[in-house]
Amino acid sequence: MPRVKMKCLQLLLWTSVILALATGCATPKNTVTQISTIDALLAGAYDGQMPCRKLTRYGNLGIGTFDHLDGEMVLLNGAVFQVKADGKAYAAGTTATTPFASVVRFQSRMTQSVPSGTTFSGFQKQVDALATNRNVFCAIRVKGKFRFVKTRSVPAQSKPYPPLVDVTRNQPVFDLVNQEGTLVGFRLPDYVKGINVPGYHVHFLSANHQVGGHVLDFTLDQGTIELAPCYHFQLLLPEDQSAFGRIDFSRDRSQELEKAEK
Ligand SMILES: [Zn+2]
Repeated sequence: MPRVKMKCLQLLLWTSVILALATGCATPKNTVTQISTIDALLAGAYDGQMPCRKLTRYGNLGIGTFDHLDGEMVLLNGAVFQVKADGKAYAAGTTATTPFASVVRFQSRMTQSVPSGTTFSGFQKQVDALATNRNVFCAIRVKGKFRFVKTRSVPAQSKPYPPLVDVTRNQPVFDLVNQEGTLVGFRLPDYVKGINVPGYHVHFLSANHQVGGHVLDFTLDQGTIELAPCYHFQLLLPEDQSAFGRIDFSRDRSQELEKAEK
């Protein structure tokens, strides 16, 4: 074999070894990874458990919140955005941590355009018709032009932390009009009750990365739904014995969840 060709082969081999090492520990596509549980968040477990920089190893799309419940998280294209209580989106700082988040290395498996005038409830019907198995996780990305998006965020809390339902009672709500942007989130099965939010949970980030939040309602002018049914789920529990270890999980917090998230 000519020497030059040999060198090329060696280079190729080393490149693949380095690539394999670099990506070897990456989570497989469309595996949902979650930090902590929704009932822990409802109980006021707002201390950050994982650095956002580490969170992005598990996914490039997702939603969550931040240490001290300081705003709504949008993870989009691998970048973490923090929508604070002023309704504005900020690039999350390098030291940001999260007490609760769900992320996925998103690969779209189904795509469909959205008819003009589609509302949040119409959107849910469309997704249900497209991804018919409601008993698996479904990751969602919708890029589009929004006539209207109603979002909310949450202000940072200090200790002793109040329960989430008390925080969201006075949540700042934002009526965004004529925004290009992206919805990211999940449709989750009923059996995740206690662990995550059953049904639809999406966050919004404007295309200019200026505004966003936890979505309460919207009307789309045009857009494209991308969905990925997810058959793998990993739950990472906080090692923080003093907080997480003391939460009473025997309580049914589904009514609190309804008030806090809807
Ligand atoms: Zn949310």
